[in-house]
Amino acid sequence: MPTPDLGSPGRTAEVIRTHQFAFQKKFGQNFLTDAHVLEKIVAASGVTKEDLVLEIGPGIGTLTQYLACAAREVVAVEIDRNLIPILGETLAGYDNVTVICEDILKLDIPALVQERNEGRPIQVVANLPYYITTPIIMSLFESHVPMESLTVMVQKEVADRMKAGPGTKDYGALSLAVQFYAEPYLAAHVPPHCFMPRPNVGSAVIRLRRYEEPPITVRDEGWMFRLIRASFNQRRKTLVNSLHNAPELNLSKEQVQEALADLELPAAVRGEALTLAQFAALADRLLLS
Ligand code: SAM
Repeated sequence: MPTPDLGSPGRTAEVIRTHQFAFQKKFGQNFLTDAHVLEKIVAASGVTKEDLVLEIGPGIGTLTQYLACAAREVVAVEIDRNLIPILGETLAGYDNVTVICEDILKLDIPALVQERNEGRPIQVVANLPYYITTPIIMSLFESHVPMESLTVMVQKEVADRMKAGPGTKDYGALSLAVQFYAEPYLAAHVPPHCFMPRPNVGSAVIRLRRYEEPPITVRDEGWMFRLIRASFNQRRKTLVNSLHNAPELNLSKEQVQEALADLELPAAVRGEALTLAQFAALADRLLLS
């Protein structure tokens, strides 16, 4: 297997120039150009020679080269067809890599895991396109793709939201969703100069290790997340008002007030004060009302 030759501003610029590649802003294309960061991502992911890695958005194949050296097999899914001939060249010699030209949100990932990994959990690793970070992460969790962990580069603010706890400004629906499915670990902060072109925001590498069983039990997961979303839609309002004002929930103020009283929560409490366990208890209690 070749040693990675990408991972510096000079080499990335050379590949871009040779292929006359035009960056597409709409695809969130910020390519990594720092070997140290690339090594850090692979180390944080814990990928071994046993693993099948799904890489979302390989770009010109920089992270893909490093993953190919660490993993048994890499499947890299890229939406931009202009990158496919470039990947053919930069990944020549890496015979454990398959490139699929597709929108990751349209790919049947459970079928891919079945076919290539006999349904065993895969590792997902990506420098994510920032315009669809949350939909990608949520669809991976909600579709129950067999997955050991998800190691991703995201906007720093998004990493902060994933890790946030109750009562903090970053705490919200994303924090609760991520923490229901996985244990988050912040592996690195990455400044804009490590990318080409440079993003306008700071970035971070976060590893989400999927729980075998969620840390709390709830009767109806979908119902709990509908409550959570409604609670944070109107962040400054009390929970009673937020939930009553969400027409799709069809809850009266009295129903919510009674449920809060049963759970010994203050009548004027806001959603941002509740833990995941308290949201689960509230969801179970409201399901019965
Ligand atoms: N992995 C490369 C790197 O680190 O240098 C590129 C990362 S770049 C931030 C994001 C990549 O995701 C781009 O190559 C972009 O074209 C691709 N992409 C954007 N939307 C996508 C989608 N819906 N499905 C698959 N790939 C996508």
